[in-house]
Amino acid sequence: MSKQKGILTVLSGFSGAGKGTVLRRLLEKYDNYALSISATTRGPREGEENGREYFFKTREEFEKMIAKDELIEYAMYVNNYYGTPKAYVQEQLAEGKDVILEIEVQGALKVKEKFPDTPLIFITPPTAGELKRRLTDRGTESPEVVEERMKTAAKEARFMESYDYIILNERDRLEECVEAVHGVILAEHEKST
Ligand code: 5GP
Repeated sequence: MSKQKGILTVLSGFSGAGKGTVLRRLLEKYDNYALSISATTRGPREGEENGREYFFKTREEFEKMIAKDELIEYAMYVNNYYGTPKAYVQEQLAEGKDVILEIEVQGALKVKEKFPDTPLIFITPPTAGELKRRLTDRGTESPEVVEERMKTAAKEARFMESYDYIILNERDRLEECVEAVHGVILAEHEKST
């Protein structure tokens, strides 16, 4: 009997919404998930490693990947390219893993266009003030970048209505958020059987 194929899910949220923490916890708790590793032209933040958080590429390398049709989707975000390499995602889905793409809104809409059954999940802190506090407390971005990311968040908020699920990531309630994401994916499995 062939293995049941995994489900592709998109997870977006403002930069600073805590998506990374939610995903790490989800992967720690359950073994059915695989996280796609994106390619980007932005430089590594302190502590980030090539091939772990991202595949860090030059602009030329990234544009070559586009030309060779190696990406499921890509987008420009705060002056850098970000994109999802195809091969790993296809491999993991075939293995029966549920693959999560942690991508921004433009990319999410492209994935939905290509694969309409993909659930789109949006994670958000409860208020704009809380978002700014988290971006500032992270300590990895300059005040200018924090401002730029807040402006980008305001633009992204307009796309929330295109998402299938909006999940709050409240302070000290990580587990609830993780379980809500897991619940959505379990429900999607039910739908597809
Ligand atoms: P950061 O620079 O904070 O790691 O990511 C910035 C934004 O790019 C986040 O909203 C993140 O979800 C998004 N992003 C990361 N990888 C990809 C990708 O492969 N495609 C798209 N469209 N967005 C991505």
